Amino acid sequence: MTARSEDTGAAPAVERGANALLEVEGLHAGYGHVRVLHDLTFSAGEGEIVAILGPNGAGKTTTLRAVSGEIRPRGRIRFGGEDITGRPPEALVRLGVAHVPEGRGTFTGFSVEENLLLGGYTLGRGELRERVEHCWSLFPELRERRSQRAASLSGGEQQMLAIARALMRPPRLLLLDEPSLGLAPLVTRRVFDVLRRIRAEDGTTLVIVEQNANLVLGFADRAYVLESGRISLSGTAAELRERDDVRRSYLGY
Ligand code: ATP
Repeated sequence: MTARSEDTGAAPAVERGANALLEVEGLHAGYGHVRVLHDLTFSAGEGEIVAILGPNGAGKTTTLRAVSGEIRPRGRIRFGGEDITGRPPEALVRLGVAHVPEGRGTFTGFSVEENLLLGGYTLGRGELRERVEHCWSLFPELRERRSQRAASLSGGEQQMLAIARALMRPPRLLLLDEPSLGLAPLVTRRVFDVLRRIRAEDGTTLVIVEQNANLVLGFADRAYVLESGRISLSGTAAELRERDDVRRSYLGY
């Protein structure tokens, strides 16, 4: 399918094929004996925004953890054509896979600026400064709080810091787990405006897990619906918004 949502602009939506940056095929994953994901196949194209929707416990977070290398899956994950299945998180970060986990994952005892510096610890001094400046330009509200401990930030600022930290080593793929969770609507809008900018300016591919279907189906190019660890539906965001079953179950009208 090749349509896109009207309000995201830029990149064309891509199904599996030449422009796929992330290709996941027959993915199974779980925790010990608990099987959570069953035979997931999905993809995200270069510069595409892909949403993963679904009810509580469907396996959305587990999907991102499998792609980012935090849990070891079965199946195949390709990134830029390279088989990355089973590689550890640090190796994937070096390739350009960044993960912003639910609950944000900042170092709360460190300052805002220290969090950014930690996010870019492998960079040389010049590039490190450049990336920090880039983050300040995306999130001026963080620059104002650069010396403040992350623990003292508002929920929205912590989410911004988590995203900024993930941008320090410029990612090709940004995995975001519930970026709107617990944020006021205005703050959510601000965060999503920056995410849109990151895609438009850097061509970064975004894979976003969200429970807020109204929000994410107005933002993504394509979406997958995950139910009980299986993909039950997929299509362009515009197509899914038109479906009666999606409206009833996820959009509330
Ligand atoms: P939510 O929106 O509530 O975060 P989700 O779709 O992200 O849900 P997951 O967090 O991936 O779902 O959880 C999927 C299933 O895996 C759930 O049944 C959950 O209880 C189970 N699970 C998650 N983490 C673990 C763990 N560390 N050990 C065992 N089971 C887990």
